[in-house]
Amino acid sequence: PSGMVAAGNLVLEGLLEQGYEAYFVGGCVRDELLGRPVHDMDLTTSARPEEVMGIFPRCVPTGLAHGTITVLQDGWSFEVTTYRTESGYADHRRPEQVLFVSDVKEDLRRRDFTINAMCRGLDGAVVDPYGGQEDSERRLIRCVGDAEARFGEDALRMLRCVRFASVLDFSIAKNTWRGLLRQRDKLAHIAVERVRAELERIVLGPHPQRGLGLVARSGLLPRGKAPFPWTGSDMAAAAALTAGIGDLEDAHLRWALLLHALKQTASEAGELLRAWTFPGATRSAVAGVLRVREGWDSALASVPPGSPGGTEALRRRWIAAVLACGQSAAEGWLTLLAALPQAAAPCAAGVAQPPAPALGAPDAGAPAAQRPNAPDTGAPAAQRPTPALLRSWTAEMPLHTLAELAVTGNELAGALNKRPGPWLGERLQQLLLAAAAGDIPNDNQSLLQEAKRMDPNEP
Ligand code: ATP
Ligand code: MG
Repeated sequence: PSGMVAAGNLVLEGLLEQGYEAYFVGGCVRDELLGRPVHDMDLTTSARPEEVMGIFPRCVPTGLAHGTITVLQDGWSFEVTTYRTESGYADHRRPEQVLFVSDVKEDLRRRDFTINAMCRGLDGAVVDPYGGQEDSERRLIRCVGDAEARFGEDALRMLRCVRFASVLDFSIAKNTWRGLLRQRDKLAHIAVERVRAELERIVLGPHPQRGLGLVARSGLLPRGKAPFPWTGSDMAAAAALTAGIGDLEDAHLRWALLLHALKQTASEAGELLRAWTFPGATRSAVAGVLRVREGWDSALASVPPGSPGGTEALRRRWIAAVLACGQSAAEGWLTLLAALPQAAAPCAAGVAQPPAPALGAPDAGAPAAQRPNAPDTGAPAAQRPTPALLRSWTAEMPLHTLAELAVTGNELAGALNKRPGPWLGERLQQLLLAAAAGDIPNDNQSLLQEAKRMDPNEP
């Protein structure tokens, strides 16, 4: 945004006017060079933190010990950090010592990758001692200095390396990749929130398939135990199954696809997302999609292909799954199905089965003719339904929730002359399924009549 650039220029000028050196640095310089949108601008300066605070009345000492002051200007905020070096990374994450220095090149040397180790002055001149411009042109992620050592200092850099390669669709320089492979086990030192944040930027970014392939090949995620309980070969297989992940627009579906590809059950997926510190809404949305898969898989397993009346039985099982998991989870699963490679999406295959008895056979819940919206599924029965057919079954449902049912629990208890109890919820669910499947119209009289018919104690 131009307002941000203008405000940033004012901060830069404020420092220069007082005789300090100051530059824009890091991600904003990289993104400007790459012609990518710049979302925030960081500054680096020779001024000490207390000097920065003396110049700008509106500022917050966000990271005083590390030399970072947040300066507020015209509604924008800028992180202004004093030139510094770092040393002593005993925990493979955070430096134990920060030393303020006077040369901007020293400051740039502590930064992770060449493309992130450039700064730009007010005049537009770029300071680039480590070849960041050349690497941007060659689309390469390369460590500043010795890769193995840099990854050993701060293990998070390895996942940042993969994340930048994924988001920018860059390659990783040979030595950098080699250093990463040597240090990959150290990623276990990194807090799960940080790992999750990087993984999230890979999965939700523009080239998630590339990132997941790199995650798999790097062997970076701690393998075989919680909260990343899979092996290198599981991850490689998952990367192959998620080829279509970049086409999914919904973030929840991207996670659902990944967890599906990693062979997680709905409840395992929910637990993993909890361990990765995702909010409850994300967990339940993702697990909901996988729960539809489970309902549908068990439907397919219980209705053998070619069984008489199988298509109708499957239709009812599908509708029950939609009612149990919700329409949006069901839609989500269908979208996922379309993103899976055909071989991995058995019910999408639509394999032709030998001719089977037509609809309306004895095991069908209700004769087709009795259903107002009976879809013409086209015999032969019990061909595996395609996602398109599942979608049309969903679309034909006249209602999706108990709230839409044209009878209340109280009415029902009154009409049957029974005390409310656990039976009531069950009966309402049965009525909901019957109405959703089109066996009976969703009106008060029909529903009460059906309830009486269902109730063995009533005449
Ligand atoms: P984006 O904000 O798009 O993730 P960025 O490059 O701005 O990209 P930040 O995490 O905001 O990334 O960090 C700002 C700058 O700080 C980086 O460009 C890099 O120079 C430096 N930096 C950040 N994290 C590290 C790290 N772990 N090791 C070394 N330098 C780092
Ligand atoms: Mg940034």
